[in-house]
Amino acid sequence: MKRKTKLIHGGIEGDASTGAVSVPIYQVSTYKQEGIGGHKGYEYSRTGNPTRHALEELIKDIEGGKAGFAFGSGMAAITAVIMLFNTGDHVILTDDVYGGTYRVITKVLSRFGIEATFVDTSHLEMIKNAIQPNTKAIYLETPTNPLLKITDIESAAKLARENGLLTIVDNTFATPYWQNPIELGADIVLHSATKYIGGHSDVVAGLVVVNSEKLAEDLHFVQNSTGGVLGPQDSWLLIRGMKTLGVRMEEHETNTAAIVDFLQNHPNVKKVFYPGIETHPNHELAKKQSRGFGGMVSFDVGSEQKVASLLSKVKYFTLAESLGAVESLISVPAKMTHASIPKERREELGITDGLVRISVGLEDVDDLIDDLKQALK
Ligand SMILES: *Cc1c(COP(=O)(O)O)cnc(C)c1O
Repeated sequence: MKRKTKLIHGGIEGDASTGAVSVPIYQVSTYKQEGIGGHKGYEYSRTGNPTRHALEELIKDIEGGKAGFAFGSGMAAITAVIMLFNTGDHVILTDDVYGGTYRVITKVLSRFGIEATFVDTSHLEMIKNAIQPNTKAIYLETPTNPLLKITDIESAAKLARENGLLTIVDNTFATPYWQNPIELGADIVLHSATKYIGGHSDVVAGLVVVNSEKLAEDLHFVQNSTGGVLGPQDSWLLIRGMKTLGVRMEEHETNTAAIVDFLQNHPNVKKVFYPGIETHPNHELAKKQSRGFGGMVSFDVGSEQKVASLLSKVKYFTLAESLGAVESLISVPAKMTHASIPKERREELGITDGLVRISVGLEDVDDLIDDLKQALK
């Protein structure tokens, strides 16, 4: 089955008992038992719910793993994954991981004795040098936010395996349509499904896929014990979103390529960050491990004042957090997602005050380019 077909026919199709083509929303908490323990596979919806199960089977098929899990947010998914570890365990993470990941690791999970080192994982040597006797996993985000840095998943997973470590990949930016980390050797792949998978700015959710029965058993134990599950209505919305993920990603890609081309040739744009650009330091790697470059682009207009001017003029790019939806969004990393990082550290990372990040939506690309053109004047 090809990818676009799998998005529509993967997992559990429709409803066997009624013939309904769409998976029903099983808005239910508990299930009748014909005598103690005599049930039809469901006892209580924290443990399992048919709509959530259909979503979990679908993401499992799409990422090519052994089992899927749906959580109430990307952060709930990430937290559950890190809860697979114990006090005293150490994890190596990409240095510019999503801000919420940095926060939960350094401010919450650290209180339970999970140790972490953040390194530039786009350099394999840096990962290697960070391995300690108590290291249990390498946690990658690729491409990263907002500078779209790329880590070599296959090489990192190989290094992990040689050292008895798990490889975890946050695949939110690339999406399962363009990139499948498990095929590249990763053990766990996770998503903020709030972004491209949902795709319509109307649901907050997280998904995880694991590649072994043991991890499946362990993560289900954590999911059921800690309870951060996704509700049936939101599970249904994600199944619905997933059906159009292929066509949406193809269109995001086309629109983004045209916008990147426009930005690169604009005199008021100092630098454009996008893995699809041939001069991007990991362009070839991005081409090798992903089938597309995605719809996220960052560019530098030079100063805070110029950012303010741009923001005051754009019509179709909504100033908002989040990404990956049908509508184009614009954000200012230094003032929004990365505001908690000290200015000096930000400048070191390349997250200047003149940096703008856009999530290219599915509007007509001519309108989007015209909008940027008048706003950049
Ligand atoms: C948004 C995001 C998250 C967190 O997901 P939520 O659904 O907001 O909890 C994690 N990783 C990445 C890369 C994200 O963009």
